[in-house]
Amino acid sequence: PLVLGIETSCDETGVGIVRGTTLLANAVASSMDEQAKYGGVVPEVAARAHVDSMVPVLREALETAGVTLDELDAIAVTAGPGLAGALMVGVGAAKSLAIAADKPLYGVNHLVGHVCADLLREEGEPVQFPAISLLVSGGHTSLLRSDSLTGHSVLLGETIDDAAGEAFDKVARVLGLPYPGGPSIDKVAADGDPKAFRFPRGLTHPKDQVKHRFDFSFSGLKTSVARQVEKFEDAGEPVPVADIAASFREAVADVLITKAIDACKEYDTPRLLLGGGVAANARVRSLAAERCADAGISLHIPPLKLCTDNGAMIAALGAQLVMAGREPSTLEIGADSTLPMTTAQVDEAFE
Ligand code: ATP
Ligand code: MG
Ligand code: FE
Repeated sequence: PLVLGIETSCDETGVGIVRGTTLLANAVASSMDEQAKYGGVVPEVAARAHVDSMVPVLREALETAGVTLDELDAIAVTAGPGLAGALMVGVGAAKSLAIAADKPLYGVNHLVGHVCADLLREEGEPVQFPAISLLVSGGHTSLLRSDSLTGHSVLLGETIDDAAGEAFDKVARVLGLPYPGGPSIDKVAADGDPKAFRFPRGLTHPKDQVKHRFDFSFSGLKTSVARQVEKFEDAGEPVPVADIAASFREAVADVLITKAIDACKEYDTPRLLLGGGVAANARVRSLAAERCADAGISLHIPPLKLCTDNGAMIAALGAQLVMAGREPSTLEIGADSTLPMTTAQVDEAFE
């Protein structure tokens, strides 16, 4: 099926078009440059930017794919989780399009969308199910086990404080590096010693009290880095930015990959999928590759431009729902900023 997907859960306005698992267009506009002024995503700024970008991005996607609205089989949209005001812009646009073009509408789960990004790969085999997914971005850090793409997913763990990408952004600020922090830390860490400092690995002690077996915590790590920087500053010594960045990055990658692999083992599921902006991190990728190879786990990382928020992954999930014979969502769906990580499509999550 030919499906158009709309994504506006955070700071990317994304419109993607797929035919089944074939990517036809992936247009994305980001308010990142504007957000950089504030050092993080300001919800109101994101929502306004979506309003400005929606029509140009939609036009670009249709043009690139060479299709008209009339030819579409369905429209899919991220209904949650995400920033409420930002989500509403996408859901509103999708409903209007669905009515105007008389097409079925599928309101979908953003996190399952991240998992679906892997279906659009041009090389290699897409991930098979059941699979464990580690979704790490500026807004979420979640470990899931999915039985199938369109079926049920179980949340095995999530962050109890900062998201992993948020930790990169905050630590970058402490180190005086530009926003977004992930790429800037990656860059300077390449010249640093990852063993220079031993930063804490949050919630890795068996005695740690957590809600889910595989919950994450990054705020202690962030504080520890800040203290280390202060120590140098107080002593009037230059801050060893590269070494701190490398040691911080090592701590994040170690925690993320250790838990992901433990989950694969505990659930006897030898397939790991990475998604979200932090999956772009060089050390996260290399450590995942090393440890998955050692443990006999097949590792799947979607192409970089499909790891960060985009409309194509939402379209891909919509196409899966159409192919599974799912009924469309009602036009009464709203934006649900705290949509639980249980089902792919929103109507069911509301049941
Ligand atoms: P959401 O949480 O809704 O998916 P988001 O905009 O935060 O929204 P993404 O666009 O997927 O999510 O990712 C952005 C985040 O990923 C930022 O926090 C950024 O610092 C981080 N990031 C990007 N590249 C890297 C990298 N190379 N290493 C580490 N983190 C990175
Ligand atoms: Mg983003
Ligand atoms: Fe996301």
